[in-house]
Amino acid sequence: RKAEAEKNRSVSNLRAAVICVLGHVDTGKTKILDKLRRTSVQAGEAGGITQQIGATNVPIENIKEQTKIVRGISQTEFRIPGLLIIDTPGHASFSNLRSRGSSLCDMAILVVDIMHGLEEQTIESLNLLKAKKTPFVVALNKIDRLYDWSTMSRKDVRDIISSQGPNTQNEFQTRTKQVILQFAEQGMNAALFYENPDPKTYVSLVPTSAITGEGMGNLLALLVTNCQSMLAKRLMFSEELQATVLEVKAITGLGTTIDCILVNGRLREGDTVVMATSDGGSIVTQIRSLLMPQPMKELRVKNDYIEHKEVVAAQGVKIAAKDLEKVIAGLNILVARSPDEVEICKEEVVKDLARELGRIKLQDRGVLVQASTLGSLEALLEFLKDSKIPYSSVKIGPVVKRDVMKASSMLERENQYGTILAFDVKVERDAQELADQLGVKIFQADIIYHLFDQFTAHREQLKQQLRQQNKHVAVFPCKLRILPQYVFNSRDPIVMGVIVEDGIVCVGTPICVQSKEDPSQFLDLGIVSSIESNHKSVETARRGLEVCIKIENAGDSAPKMFGRHFDEKDMLLSKVRQFVLCQHCLFFTKDRKSNKA
Ligand code: GDP
Repeated sequence: RKAEAEKNRSVSNLRAAVICVLGHVDTGKTKILDKLRRTSVQAGEAGGITQQIGATNVPIENIKEQTKIVRGISQTEFRIPGLLIIDTPGHASFSNLRSRGSSLCDMAILVVDIMHGLEEQTIESLNLLKAKKTPFVVALNKIDRLYDWSTMSRKDVRDIISSQGPNTQNEFQTRTKQVILQFAEQGMNAALFYENPDPKTYVSLVPTSAITGEGMGNLLALLVTNCQSMLAKRLMFSEELQATVLEVKAITGLGTTIDCILVNGRLREGDTVVMATSDGGSIVTQIRSLLMPQPMKELRVKNDYIEHKEVVAAQGVKIAAKDLEKVIAGLNILVARSPDEVEICKEEVVKDLARELGRIKLQDRGVLVQASTLGSLEALLEFLKDSKIPYSSVKIGPVVKRDVMKASSMLERENQYGTILAFDVKVERDAQELADQLGVKIFQADIIYHLFDQFTAHREQLKQQLRQQNKHVAVFPCKLRILPQYVFNSRDPIVMGVIVEDGIVCVGTPICVQSKEDPSQFLDLGIVSSIESNHKSVETARRGLEVCIKIENAGDSAPKMFGRHFDEKDMLLSKVRQFVLCQHCLFFTKDRKSNKA
């Protein structure tokens, strides 16, 4: 079937290109999408744009209308039937459009605020686009905010810029140069689209304003011409099905439905579809109906869908069927054309999921992470990696009792990691109850930053507790020699093997090292939170013993790192603060302030 589909592909039958919008928060991604849609409606009757499921279909007639103002466009032959622009901008929906490691997004728009240049999430998006080898154009947005900008919509943006006053042009040039420089720092060539020497090696910048609409025609024209010149082969329509689940949604009256982007091939009512589920298995079900919204009207009535017998790529469509509750967004849909294909499809979707999850590198110690879709999981993991929060387990789907049990075993190893970060997923009631009993923390949010804030606040609280608990503990003096071959974790918590050279080391002992720069100063490493001797947990260890200790940063100074702030040449010393050694007995100490023995 595959070979036949391949044979029948032709340049005379192209499909719509799938376009995603990415970029830093507040750069105008949503506004650009709105503008592309609204302008199209305003552009009048010429080929009405259609609102689809999860995406907007901008047909080529409409693009022709919108790009009339673009200089030189009349020589362009439009060959693709249009653009299918994904409605939700951002990292997660881009990641959900995946197929065996590559992306189903044909071309992306990376939005950069001309006033701010490249920002943190711009760079994240850039790395994602590079990793998936997805071509993109840059919308250099908010040009209307340049000094003294005068708006002249319905003109080619090149003419609009050259008609601005000298100061405005100056500012435009300076800021653009700055952005180009920032791209160069990321190892990429970039140029204004009309100065681009080679669109294959230089990223094009299109100045736009999503508020005034200036440059939007140029942006559309560039997307179409780039798609046609660079992706003609990729955009040849194929009967081989390529469809991905964008979102799983419960809809009143329809039950659980899935929103999917059909990138190639066709789906028909009654088709037997096979998809991966969050329990690691698969479901086989028949398409009950293929739904799309009513054609765009002034007021769109919610849940007012039209049923289709067949949908042909590329389009966004909602599938209603039985048993869709556990389907995972971000994975492919397969259609079994005959009963004997069902088993093959099942195997394939399960393998697909295992492969995607298998790519994720887990740590021995770390929080547990759960998310609603593969795309949102990846977005969260990316963020945790940047924030240096390790994760030991990942899952797609709601938090159930089994997940809490898993987290509780982490709790034994390290308090702060007995935590589940639940990103945009439900927590079952009995799971929450069990978590409360066992002391497992579950943080739930649908914004990454909120999860991060909750977790860091919790970690801080644990450190405070540790500090409090150990405030009144008498500190026994000790001197420990580091065994460099047994450094298991070099930084917060420090986990390493040591020999007790002198004294006694106890759980609760604050540890410091002599500063290299100023020997009269000591660097606090933290507090010994556990000691292991011969794989057994102990409370104390005396002179001569070799033990493994864990030192947790107590939060009163920045975490110190083995290899950077200190090394094996340094002795670890107990930090004896307000305590003095007893005259009579080496290990008996006295609090100088309260004078209590
Ligand atoms: P997103 O977070 O990237 O989706 O950004 P939004 O589309 O929500 O835009 C963020 C803010 O910037 C909103 O207040 C928009 O009105 C504003 N904005 C977006 N595009 C432009 C633009 O081209 N010019 C100006 N002046 N403001 C813009």
